[in-house]
Amino acid sequence: QQIGYAVIGLGHLTLGEILPALKECKKSKIAALVSGHPEKLKKTGLMYNVPESSQYSYEDFDEIANNDDVDAVFIVLPNSMHKEFTIRSAKAGKHVLCEKPMAISSDECREMIEACKAASVKLMIAYRIQYEPFNTYVKNQIREKAIGTVKFVEAQNGQSSGNPDHWRYKKALSGGGALPDIGIYCLNTTRFILDAEPEEVFAYQYSNPKDPHFKEIDEMVNWQMKFPGGVVAQCSTSYQIHTSKRYRVVGDEGWLNLDNAYGYVGQKLLHGKPEEHTPVQEISIKHVNQFAQEMDYFSDCILNDTQPYTSGEVGLQDQIIIEAIYESAKTGNAVSLKGKLQKNLNR
Ligand code: NAD
Repeated sequence: QQIGYAVIGLGHLTLGEILPALKECKKSKIAALVSGHPEKLKKTGLMYNVPESSQYSYEDFDEIANNDDVDAVFIVLPNSMHKEFTIRSAKAGKHVLCEKPMAISSDECREMIEACKAASVKLMIAYRIQYEPFNTYVKNQIREKAIGTVKFVEAQNGQSSGNPDHWRYKKALSGGGALPDIGIYCLNTTRFILDAEPEEVFAYQYSNPKDPHFKEIDEMVNWQMKFPGGVVAQCSTSYQIHTSKRYRVVGDEGWLNLDNAYGYVGQKLLHGKPEEHTPVQEISIKHVNQFAQEMDYFSDCILNDTQPYTSGEVGLQDQIIIEAIYESAKTGNAVSLKGKLQKNLNR
């Protein structure tokens, strides 16, 4: 049995990754398309065999409630639109897979969780890294104490910027800059691999005042997260560097270094060991299509009526931490997360 997805937003991610990945899925298939551009809708419908009766505009989207081929909606729109379409999908009785960041404020995240609860539909945030085999290997190695007791994490996610007129550089549409867009990978993945929630954050932010990209949003955020037991994660994100997507986890008996950790492909994992002749070993793991893994995982949750690991609550937890990071950067003080977060939500 396959779960039918309506994909909403026919931008770069949908056309470049999600629709091609759906063809590789075992338990998921394309059932409908939603777009504000009639021509793009028609063309994409033809490419993926989606009949006109299953093509919707943003205005007539609510009619999807009557389409029995659609079980779930995958929301791939600018961040400020995630809340509206999550609520409309829930009201239409459809399960929701929503792109990261979940929304542009923690209040919006709470509304989305409530709407899905009220409609008895599942809500999953598309944290594909949690379904990617190199990152899950690292998590399991840490759990099995393969590098002893973890002391530090260094994480980095950066790239160069594009057209300054794009929604990513407009705060009302994006909610922020490098931090919620790509820094969120350092944040969510560190929580995931450590299986822990931070207790405190301390941050520094910079935006070049002469660069038109950064009139409204952050160019660079550098932050520390203090986890229980004195474990410290040092994270950096920037919209103005050569692509760099990596982390290193250092324990008292070894380290794990994952290059291109947050990329769609090209992960390279090194394991530093206390062995004289092989102090650094490369670990090879078969690459998979992360988007197909992620969608099939959500389909499994729907078919078996189980709660997805990367639930709305996990997205809310990240949003609360993002808000604390911005507050720390603004005030210059460390911000405690005690009493602000739910219990450890990692699996
Ligand atoms: P994009 O700009 O390429 O596409 C966005 C789509 O939204 C376009 O089709 C555009 O027409 C539509 N849209 C509707 N209203 C709009 C408005 N007011 N302004 C601008 N566009 C509007 O963006 P994208 O890179 O595909 O990102 C979409 C979502 O996916 C974002 O939430 C982003 O964070 C997320 N994303 C996730 C990953 C991942 O690896 N999981 C990668 C890229 C993007």
